[in-house]
Amino acid sequence: MIIAVASGKGGTGKTTVATSLARSLDVQGASLLFLDADVEAPNSHLFLKPEIEHTRDVGVRIPEVNQEICSLCGKCAEVCQYHAIAVLGKKVLVFPQLCHSCGSCTLMCPEGAISEKQNVIGVLEHGPAQDGFRYFRGVMNVGEPMALPIVRLLKQWAGESDESQVVVIDAPPGTSCPMVEAVCGADFLLLVTEPTPFGLHDLKLALQIAAKFTIPVGVIINRDGLGYQGVDEFCAEAGLSIIIRIPFDRSIAEGTARGRTLLDIYPSYKTAFQNLFKEISNYGVGSRWPRP
Ligand code: SF4
Ligand code: SF4
Repeated sequence: MIIAVASGKGGTGKTTVATSLARSLDVQGASLLFLDADVEAPNSHLFLKPEIEHTRDVGVRIPEVNQEICSLCGKCAEVCQYHAIAVLGKKVLVFPQLCHSCGSCTLMCPEGAISEKQNVIGVLEHGPAQDGFRYFRGVMNVGEPMALPIVRLLKQWAGESDESQVVVIDAPPGTSCPMVEAVCGADFLLLVTEPTPFGLHDLKLALQIAAKFTIPVGVIINRDGLGYQGVDEFCAEAGLSIIIRIPFDRSIAEGTARGRTLLDIYPSYKTAFQNLFKEISNYGVGSRWPRP
């Protein structure tokens, strides 16, 4: 069972929900795996306090041009869909941060002037969380623009030797490629939103991703009680179940800012998350980890 926790909008409390869900489950130890795929700003470690035992660099292959044998034909620039390689004057320039490592320029070069070198863009980390379950996270290097390869390799690494019955994924915010990669293959998508017009707008975007993958969805409203009814009305009209409401509460804000999960602040949430897990399990979907 793979449960992805996502939110179209950043700052809605996605990590608060994902970490609290993981800590609530009784499937501890080797049968639970937590993946922090919010690789641009992973912060679940503040709540789960893992002991990182293994690390692995994430590298992508980028072209390197041998200017001495290059004939300046321009075929590499023609084939590149991302404008990551260009012939300027008597030189071929590569812009690594635009490169998607597709390898097309290397294949198309008639002179064999292009080779590929490894460019490290981040790191993967793995170790037991304080509660004993397996914890993985990806961390993108500062200044790197592409999170997608890190999310993809994080899932591959975690899935390599994994026998977990339950996987909780803290997905990146937004609805761009890294979020899509993180939730792809999930059995259930928990969408965390807040009762504001922005929250509603981005919830609708996230639902479009869920619809593409036909993943069952449940909604969690964080900071409930702000006064805006649009999210409730939309969910009622769309037939979406609001599984948990987390109130707009100063002690929750203060506690999470100090690295405390919802369970530490209000222990009654443990039952709420366990019930949520039971509801999700009722969908009866089998584990597909790693995804096909
Ligand atoms: S590897 Fe692909 S994306 Fe990168 S420069 Fe070559 S053609 Fe462009
Ligand atoms: S395709 Fe090869 S030979 Fe042509 S410009 Fe690019 S690097 Fe040079």
